Amino acid sequence: MSLPPVPDVLLEVRDLKVHFPITRGVIFDRVIGHVRAVDGVDLSVRRGQTYGLVGESGCGKSTLGRAVLQLYPVTEGSVRFDGVELTKLPAEQMRAMRQRMQMIFQDPVSSLDPRQNVESILTEGLEAHGIGADRAERREMISQTLDSVGLPRWALSRYPHEFSGGQRQRIGIARALALGPELIIADEPVSALDVSIQAQVINLLDQLQNSLGLTYLVIAHDLAVVRHISDTVGVMYLGALVEEAPSDLIYTEPLHPYTRSLMSAVPIPDPELEDRRERILLTGDLPSPANPPPGCRFHTRCPWAQPERCAEERPPLREARPGHLVACHWVEEIADGRIRPHEVATELVRPDEEIPTVSIVQPVQAP
Ligand code: SF4
Repeated sequence: MSLPPVPDVLLEVRDLKVHFPITRGVIFDRVIGHVRAVDGVDLSVRRGQTYGLVGESGCGKSTLGRAVLQLYPVTEGSVRFDGVELTKLPAEQMRAMRQRMQMIFQDPVSSLDPRQNVESILTEGLEAHGIGADRAERREMISQTLDSVGLPRWALSRYPHEFSGGQRQRIGIARALALGPELIIADEPVSALDVSIQAQVINLLDQLQNSLGLTYLVIAHDLAVVRHISDTVGVMYLGALVEEAPSDLIYTEPLHPYTRSLMSAVPIPDPELEDRRERILLTGDLPSPANPPPGCRFHTRCPWAQPERCAEERPPLREARPGHLVACHWVEEIADGRIRPHEVATELVRPDEEIPTVSIVQPVQAP
């Protein structure tokens, strides 16, 4: 008897929105607006593959990662994991589901409790999910996990401060692996590490994926970090995806003006090519997600922005070339040189502009 085919897509996000309320008031808070941290994102991650999500700080990529795990409340949209709709899952079932979906955090120092030794850190999740018959069995399980991340077994009795930054991140990876997850969301997994250690941790993630068949959503602000590990790369700007393509295409033929500007900042190791390449300097800061620009959200900084459409119509993410999605009205004209870049005047933030209070929604603690 043949089994039904395993669906290829493990994680499917559709029109995901995460809006945080902005409140003001002395006695009673009233909602005066919303920070649109994630504002309509579609993405799919295939089983056993890596989706690299890149964008500058504040673009909403980390919020998206946490919303996938339901650590932030979802305002609208759908998150399906292995065919199960997570946004409607009761809390107890969601807690059980988190065994299959784990997170690696950016800062291994603050994400590891300094009062717990490594054994306690790694067994916490196993105990919470009732995995392992007794302490001896759990000890053997986490010892094997330590082997897989390249840490010695004597590390079990040590505390996080006794390790280097790279070793602490290996402990963070071991904690995520201990529960035997299928999906790992790695939020800036190497940005707190020295450059010399970054490649080791990226290689480790790559090896673990090959040996354990893991699926990754890797979130980073640095294009170089996701380049070698990703099958597909999505570029995010102000709460939405502006480009998505297989990793090679994004690096060799970026089509969206924002991606082109990001790519132009990545150094090329060949001095001749480095001297000849086009550099696109973006002016101004990322606009506030509480008050995003109308039309194309990138139009206030886009060197290719046109008087027609850009400031009025929000471009949808569309297939500009086979398998290559871009959210730009003029992508074809820019690609063939009919539209050339121009200088963009820097928009200053008005000094009299009031900064609203953003109510922080406390994330639900994952075991
Ligand atoms: Fe630039 Fe206009 Fe394309 Fe937006 S739609 S990226 S503003 S050219």
